[in-house]
Amino acid sequence: MSKKYKNYINGEWVEPSSGEYFENRNPANHKEVIGLWPRSNARDLACAVDAAKKGFEVWRRTPAPLRGDVIRRAGDIIASRKDEIASAMTREMGKVLKETEGDVQEGIDTAYYAATEGRRLFGHTVPSELRDKWAMSYRRPMGVCGLITPFNFPLAIPTWKMFPALVCGNAVILKPAEDVPHSATLLVEAMIEAGIPKGVIQLVHGLGEEVGAAIVEHPDIPVISFTGSTSVGSMIGETCGRMHKRLSLEMGGKNAQIVMDDANQELALDGVLWGAFGTTGQRCTATSRLLLQDRIHDEFLDRLVQRAQRLKLGDGLKDGSEVGPLINDQSAQKVASYVDIARQEGDEVLTGGRRAEGDGLNDGFFFEPTILRGVRPGSRLACEEVFGPVLSVIRFSELDEAIRINNEVDYGLSSSIYTNDVRTAFRAMTEFDNGITYINAPTIGAEAHLPFGGVKKTGNGHREGGWEVYEFYSETKVLYVDFSGKLQRAQIDTYEAAPY
Ligand code: NAD
Repeated sequence: MSKKYKNYINGEWVEPSSGEYFENRNPANHKEVIGLWPRSNARDLACAVDAAKKGFEVWRRTPAPLRGDVIRRAGDIIASRKDEIASAMTREMGKVLKETEGDVQEGIDTAYYAATEGRRLFGHTVPSELRDKWAMSYRRPMGVCGLITPFNFPLAIPTWKMFPALVCGNAVILKPAEDVPHSATLLVEAMIEAGIPKGVIQLVHGLGEEVGAAIVEHPDIPVISFTGSTSVGSMIGETCGRMHKRLSLEMGGKNAQIVMDDANQELALDGVLWGAFGTTGQRCTATSRLLLQDRIHDEFLDRLVQRAQRLKLGDGLKDGSEVGPLINDQSAQKVASYVDIARQEGDEVLTGGRRAEGDGLNDGFFFEPTILRGVRPGSRLACEEVFGPVLSVIRFSELDEAIRINNEVDYGLSSSIYTNDVRTAFRAMTEFDNGITYINAPTIGAEAHLPFGGVKKTGNGHREGGWEVYEFYSETKVLYVDFSGKLQRAQIDTYEAAPY
């Protein structure tokens, strides 16, 4: 009998009101059930919101540096359990241990950055246009924040949202993706041990279209932060617009690595292998388009195919595995359907293109690293997010053409260019229409203390990480203090104070 896990509401671990649970299985071996997690509904959410509103009243009055101290302690606790959390994450999400260790480290980095922000949360003090008057602004929390997260970064992305929201003085309700509930459970355990007061954090498990949608529609949750697919994000955007909620959306990508003929090709090869097939291609920043300049196209592609064929697929917990499984069967079917589309569009499958079989692979959702040659700009493989280990290779002649191809998709998250020409690098940095551009590095590899996010259909203008996210989770309040002892009217009496 599998273990039943619980929601965390009002400082207690509680069962779902319906008594229903969903299974969490290991994507490397779907016969293995990791546990059962609550299939929560709107009633569970109503309890979570009531608790969060009470928790908010306590937390918003807690000085921000002390809020930061709790987050720092959580960072220490997560660091001390890094191995345990990374193993649990690999077991439910599939990516190899080195990568889940990186995911946990990103959560730790985010904690330590957030803790220091508790001693900043800067407002402004500016001169008033009138004498004997002060003008200043400060940051206030907003209330209860609904945090809805995807499966691919089971610890890092919840911390990107939760820690800044908490440092700003908000209470939160976290709804993790249904494929990775264990990692979120371990995160909340660390927060409890760090001393978070009751009601400040609620963890509500369940399906997106059930409890996820209920969070978005709840009138007492004024802030929603969502990371996931563009289709779900667009629906959430409609509801939040109608309900006047503050909303941060981080969604899909169709990221390109461009290799110029003057580039260090060995470096570019390492970069594209990691960018395209790391996390089995399931990163919002994954390299899914490779643009090769004419002169190097054939040779680079030959070497890339040879290296891709040597990648070792396997259970991410086993030594030597380089590429883990896809998250679930539905995802493997979707990736396979894109390979069919590629064939119909006339692309050549140079390697991969099917579910992987063999020793240790048959009970998992493994898919062979796939490289498509001759993909045409504007075709579906060149434009749509596949979210799997499928790389579309596009040939180009001139930098201007590469810039145009990079920019002509609906998404705008990450881009990369390999070149040894400083003019080319600076033109790319200026012209690429993305939230992040890497020079001589792959499209993946964001650091916790810089803003993260994309333009166009990747996002809605907000950023996670770094200093910018603190703007999202707080409201600016302006204060004027007039100690002149008389009525002074801005814009009307201003020039009476002038010395000229
Ligand atoms: P998804 O959209 O299927 O699910 C994301 C979350 O939304 C899950 O918790 C899910 O339960 C919930 N959800 C689903 N339907 C909902 C609804 N109707 N109302 C409310 N919530 C709902 O995404 P996924 O498959 O978990 O993640 C993959 C996607 O996430 C990819 O498109 C990827 O590019 C994107 N992503 C983006 C970033 C970024 O920062 N830009 C980072 C990671 C992942």
